[in-house]
Amino acid sequence: MANSAPLAGQTALVTGASRGIGRAIALELAAAGATVVVNYASSPEAAEAVVAEIGAAGGQAWSYQANVAEEAEVEAMVKAVLERQGRLDVLVNNAGITRDGLVMRMKTGDWQSVIDLNLTGVFLCTRAVSRAMLKARSGRIINITSVVGLMGNAGQANYSAAKAGLIGLTRSNAAEFASRGVTVNAVAPGFIDTDMTKDLAPEPILAAIPLGRLGKPEEVAGAVRFLAADPAAAYMTGQVLQVDGGMVMR
Ligand code: NAP
Repeated sequence: MANSAPLAGQTALVTGASRGIGRAIALELAAAGATVVVNYASSPEAAEAVVAEIGAAGGQAWSYQANVAEEAEVEAMVKAVLERQGRLDVLVNNAGITRDGLVMRMKTGDWQSVIDLNLTGVFLCTRAVSRAMLKARSGRIINITSVVGLMGNAGQANYSAAKAGLIGLTRSNAAEFASRGVTVNAVAPGFIDTDMTKDLAPEPILAAIPLGRLGKPEEVAGAVRFLAADPAAAYMTGQVLQVDGGMVMR
């Protein structure tokens, strides 16, 4: 029989968990038994709603405001989690933004802010948790990349470069941490129905998706739950799991 609470007693930190995919991941990991720290940047009410929803379902969660592109804020957040929980078992690097535009007209600031959050932010969070995880000789780090990081996308040079870089970061961290029992994997969603995709024109997108619809945040969260669970994913590291309706078949 499958264990309905494979993460019981564990602590999971999910960045950007106030909305969209991060919210669904927080709910899923809490349902799997973890105490979830709901990180957010600028939506306290939404983050508190996620905490309340988890509590109403019988789970444990609390929220923490931090801009994960800022080194000092990341260090303070991880310190607070370790002080309050005494452990940190799962880190989900989910926070991300888009600042789309064609390269010829892309502002340097729009390039930089996407790299700062979507790539450097993951480095900062990973480095901040690594000492505790390596010392514990166990841990799961799950990075939310994108199929755009595999295939590129016109109008998203900054975003696809950050997400491709995140795949390299995932593999390098997996190689560095493997001997200490810490796994690092990535999930690459296709187009998922969230605030991030609400302004995209549906027709050309749907035509590129064999399953013929956008994904749901819960469908990404299911893959994250799998990668976090023991023993289900204990022998996987440095991998990129695609959740994309068949969009990119390799
Ligand atoms: P979303 O609905 O726009 O939510 C973004 C989340 O990130 C929010 O919780 C937001 O918090 C948080 N955030 C933004 N800036 C932050 C910062 N500086 N520090 C900490 N948190 C921050 O996005 P989503 O669609 O759920 O995307 C989640 C992840 O999946 C991203 O990494 C995205 O690149 C990736 N992804 C999405 C899709 C898709 O189709 N939606 C596809 C592939 C990959 P606030 O509410 O406080 O602003």
